[in-house]
Amino acid sequence: LAVPDTPEIPYIEGDGIGQDIWEASRRVFDAAVAAAYPGTSTGTPQGEGQRRILWRRVLAGHAALAETGESLPAETLEVIREDLVAIKGPLETPVGKGMRSLNVALRQELDLYACVRPVRYFPGIESPLKHPELTDITIFRENTEDIYAGIEWNAGTPEVQRVLDFLRSEMGVTKIRFPHSSSIGIKPISREGSERLIHAAIEYALAHSLTNVTLVHKGNIQKFTEGGFRRWGYELAEREYADALADGRLVVSDVIADNFLQQILLHPDRFDVVALTNLNGDYASDALAAQVGGIGISPGANINYSSGHAVFEATHGTAPDIAGQGLANPSSLLLSGAMLLEYIGWSEAADRLRSALASAFASGQFTRDLAPSSSVALSTQDFADAVITHI
Ligand code: NAD
Repeated sequence: LAVPDTPEIPYIEGDGIGQDIWEASRRVFDAAVAAAYPGTSTGTPQGEGQRRILWRRVLAGHAALAETGESLPAETLEVIREDLVAIKGPLETPVGKGMRSLNVALRQELDLYACVRPVRYFPGIESPLKHPELTDITIFRENTEDIYAGIEWNAGTPEVQRVLDFLRSEMGVTKIRFPHSSSIGIKPISREGSERLIHAAIEYALAHSLTNVTLVHKGNIQKFTEGGFRRWGYELAEREYADALADGRLVVSDVIADNFLQQILLHPDRFDVVALTNLNGDYASDALAAQVGGIGISPGANINYSSGHAVFEATHGTAPDIAGQGLANPSSLLLSGAMLLEYIGWSEAADRLRSALASAFASGQFTRDLAPSSSVALSTQDFADAVITHI
């Protein structure tokens, strides 16, 4: 994505620990950019280099509700539509209050069909694996289809009765006994939706000189939805990437989802880029994140590669138990920011940020969630200062 030297990038601070981690991360982002593109004069103060991001605060969540009466104001969407790229902290989704998740709303409004999560190990961080350094996998999770379409009917309602009658009388579903207490859901998976996600995964692999693209699915049970994802993936690869397949730059294979969750523990090095349907991707993202230190350090982005729209985000929630106490780990947002910098073509700044974070971990500098019991934990802001020192 081509951007000017001083692009405007909107940010949503987020609820809960959002403010803590945003304040800390923004300082690190500015320091990484200033260090990577220092301009002509030496000793330029932070933020006055050749390139600089003009951060623009946009509202969502509690702050938006308080200031505008709406959780996701139209203006927020307009600004992100216009600027293409945005970054956000976590947003609270009240359980059982009939409100759809703001994160899901944002993804749907901008049709951000690919959820991209690179999962990489940083030495110094505790992991349940014997060889966590073998984990370096980028997840491409389909973001718009599957059970997340939210089409379901509750047991005992006239609607579910009509669906059951329809299934029996019109669709020939006669062998399955539906207890009276059945709820029914629908899982839509399309060729178009699968192809654009798998296409993005393959493009990413080739751009990063990664060979293996693995299609993860449950096609042994769900022949047409999950099985379709697998089949369409192979067809797409053969149709559009015949050369890369022939010369060995690209190897496309598939694995059944439950086996995949086993394989990532036993042989994480067998995977480079994995493409998954929405629900499988949800499970796999958190499982993989746990292998390298948890969601506190796992970055993510939701991207529409056709329109260019991309929202980079911390993958954890609002952590209400530690909000406002200076205990939150900003690493997930920091690494999401590194993804953003790379996405706008500022790879030097992204590399600076990632290596500085790696140096902080390698020197035993951690926030409380990652600190071994023997060491002193840094506050959110002190951790950011440590990373800036490494930059
Ligand atoms: P959570 O991720 O907020 O918290 C789970 C546990 O991890 C808590 O103990 C928390 O203290 C800890 N934790 C999370 N992030 C941390 C960080 N950066 N540093 C240190 N510790 C961290 O999950 P939850 O409690 O299930 O959800 C709380 C709220 O967040 C809910 O309203 C949920 O809907 C929302 N949520 C939002 C997003 C998002 O915006 N992308 C994602 C998940 C959950």
